[in-house]
Amino acid sequence: MTIHAFQRSLEQKLTELGAESPRFDAAQLLRWLSGQEQAWLIAHAADPCPEDWQSRSEDALARLRGGEPLQYLLGEWEFYGLTLAVGPGVLIPRADTETVVDACLERLTPSSGPVIWDLCSGSGAIALALASCRPDARILAAEFSDEALSYLRRNIAALAPGQVEAVQTDVLTRLPDGVCDLIVSNPPYITGADMQTLSPQVRHEPELALYGGEDGLRFYRQLTRSCYDHLRPGGWLIFEIGYDQGESVPELLRQRGFAEVFCQTDLAGVPRCAGGRRPL
Ligand code: GLN
Repeated sequence: MTIHAFQRSLEQKLTELGAESPRFDAAQLLRWLSGQEQAWLIAHAADPCPEDWQSRSEDALARLRGGEPLQYLLGEWEFYGLTLAVGPGVLIPRADTETVVDACLERLTPSSGPVIWDLCSGSGAIALALASCRPDARILAAEFSDEALSYLRRNIAALAPGQVEAVQTDVLTRLPDGVCDLIVSNPPYITGADMQTLSPQVRHEPELALYGGEDGLRFYRQLTRSCYDHLRPGGWLIFEIGYDQGESVPELLRQRGFAEVFCQTDLAGVPRCAGGRRPL
C-alpha cells in the first residue's frame, strides 16, 4: 500500500467513526503516526507505507473508537495558527473560539501596551493567540485546575514566555489584583440539561471546563459583577457564550452597567461571543 492509499484508508475509517472532518483528521493522524511533516508526506505519497505505521494505526483507531478525542491522542492541536499542547484534563481549543479572539483584536485600541486578562484560560488558547497578534500586550492567564495549569504553563513557555503570565485562582471567588484594558473569558457554560447530551469525545474533557451550573450562566453572573471594577473606563469584557446564550449574557452585561453591548455569531452563524464596555 502506498502512503497515499494508507491516508485514504485512515480517512475512510475516521468517516466510519463519525468524524466531522475526516480528511483533515486523517492528515493529522498520519503526521503523528509517521513523525513527518505534511510537505514530506505529500512528496512521498507514492512511496510504500511502512508496516509499523499501519500496525500503530490500529491501536490509535481502537482508542478513537473508545471515544478518546483525536486531539488528546495527538497531544497537540492547532488554534489561531499556533500549536498548543493538550491532553486529558484540559479543554480542547475549538475553532469557534477564534471568533472571540477576533472580537478582542477588533476592540483593542492600536495604542501600545494593553493589559489583558484571560480568565478560565485552560490551555491558554485565547491568551496566546492575542499575544501572537499583539506583541505589545501584557497578558495574565488565570486558571483554577492543576491539570489545565500544567498545559497552560507549557504552552506559555513554548510560545510567549515573558509576555503571558499564568496565575492559579478560582475566578468565582478571587480575581487578580489591579486593573486592565480587556478581560476575556471562555468560562464553563454548558447547562445541566445539555451536559446529558454530550458526545463521547466531549465526555473525555474535564467537566470543570464545561459545566456552567444548572442554567449555564453561573460564571457570567459572577464575572459581569466582579470584572467591572477591574476594567479601566473604556475597557472591554468579552465572553465566549453558548448557542442559546445570545440574549441572556448581553442582558447580564447591560444590567451591570456595561455599554456598547454586542453579540456576535461564529462562522456557522451560531451566537458565540458577547461583550460590553465599561463606559468612559
Ligand atoms: N464549546 C464547548 C462545547 O460546546 C464548551 C466550552 C465551554 O463550556 N466553555 O463543547
